[in-house]
Amino acid sequence: MRRIDHWIGGRAVPSASGRTLPVYDPSTGAVQAEVGLASAEEVALATASAAEAAGAWGATPLSRRSEVLFNFRHLLERRTDELAAVVSSEHGKVRSDAAGEVARGLENVEFACGIPHLMKGGFSDQASSGVDVHSLRQPLGVVAGITPFNFPAMVPLWMLANAIACGNAFVLKPSEKDPSASLLLAALLAEAGLPEGVFSVVHGDQAAAEALLDDPAVAAVSFVGSTPVARAVYTRATANAKRVQALGGAKNHMVVLPDAGVDLAADAAVSAAYGSAGERCMAVSVVVAVGAVADPLVEAIAGRLAKLRIGPGTDPDAEMGPLITAAHRDRVAAYVAGAAAEGAEVVVDGRAHELAGGDGFFLGASLLDRVRPGMAAYDDEIFGPVLSVVRADTFDEALSVVNANPYGNGAAVFTRDGGAARRFERDVTCGMVGVNVPIPVPVAYYSFGGWKASLFGDAHMYGPAGIDFYTRTKVVTTRWPDPATSSVDLGFPRTR
Ligand code: NAD
Repeated sequence: MRRIDHWIGGRAVPSASGRTLPVYDPSTGAVQAEVGLASAEEVALATASAAEAAGAWGATPLSRRSEVLFNFRHLLERRTDELAAVVSSEHGKVRSDAAGEVARGLENVEFACGIPHLMKGGFSDQASSGVDVHSLRQPLGVVAGITPFNFPAMVPLWMLANAIACGNAFVLKPSEKDPSASLLLAALLAEAGLPEGVFSVVHGDQAAAEALLDDPAVAAVSFVGSTPVARAVYTRATANAKRVQALGGAKNHMVVLPDAGVDLAADAAVSAAYGSAGERCMAVSVVVAVGAVADPLVEAIAGRLAKLRIGPGTDPDAEMGPLITAAHRDRVAAYVAGAAAEGAEVVVDGRAHELAGGDGFFLGASLLDRVRPGMAAYDDEIFGPVLSVVRADTFDEALSVVNANPYGNGAAVFTRDGGAARRFERDVTCGMVGVNVPIPVPVAYYSFGGWKASLFGDAHMYGPAGIDFYTRTKVVTTRWPDPATSSVDLGFPRTR
């Protein structure tokens, strides 16, 4: 059985805890490897190695740090196919989708290559007589990342590119369900010239994550995962006086107004709801159909689902792969059964798909109509290939449905009416908004983050917010000796 080791101090380190978990091939259901789960002692080894490396790395010239990131960018681009294959084999998503994930992660590395510019402070000449003031940004030291299964390459890249560029040492605890992508990232960073200890990977479950949250060597924690865990991580890390950003789950709505083109909206809804089998935090899981558009839209979506090609990630023609585990597939299927019992209309039942009963963790695409808040299929984050349609009579009713939802990651509006789109963009209570764009994941030079139960903490992730999160600022007030202006003054320092 292939064993998946930690990466500590620039080399592979086998887990010594004796606790392991199987890593599956979701398209066959077979166990393909075993991952060791770090104990608190193994986590402490990684943070100690990071702490040892952080000082010298933080003092490394900006030009050299940028050079390492440029090298890493080059290697990542050259080996995208290999990384995409690793992602696909453990996650199950189709290759083109995995390559897309790597491409969006790469953009974060490109942003971080500009670190000499991003780390600039401010300078004020002659703030008072003979006094100048400047600010500087400094790294935090050791920072940790805890990441979810659904983007095993992109989400670590959201974090590690900026964290390392800012001069920190980064310890990653990836999802135990698809841990191998993180090791390829570690190997590429080493090949790019990153010194030993600046990037480490400890595999594990809740115990390893909690050891990071409690470790005094860790100054800040970036977390992405489900809302209950995000809330727990935020509470624990802040109680330990750490800086923390914890991104949680989502229930993303796509509002379709009567003037939107039905075909355009149906294409967008199908792509955004069923891509990656719905296992995306920015997946559209609810379409709010306003007025007369509902009937033709449901029909157009159902028509497209009949042609959806489902299969393993290795099949170049497959558009949607399996779910991550058998348990998750069964949980998602239960929502389809529950929705029918609660009075929703099951327009397309993914449980009937020919691959759904096999050994792989496949489930077909489901479409539920006449779903209402209060039904479990609406209230819960399903995180699978299930799209719910909620019908609303007016724009205002649709907007109030979106805003009453406890999550606030992304939302989209489909319309040709600029005024309605502008009102939506201003009044919707979400962190990321699309206008005729169903998955509005911000480009790497903006920042990613939701509102409400989709984010715990103040800081959004990557982009300018990432640079702020991974640095602390210092303000220096300077006066060089000038006998002409020297005198004793016990009053509070004034500038005038
Ligand atoms: P998860 O919350 O189960 O696990 C995320 C990480 O936390 C994993 O590394 C896991 O090992 C660790 N973990 C589990 N329990 C923990 C605990 N009690 N304390 C500390 N760490 C713990 O999430 P998942 O199932 O891997 O990923 C899917 C979830 O992630 C979905 O809810 C999805 O919406 C969310 N997600 C959110 C975003 C975003 O940007 N907001 C992005 C991707 C995924």
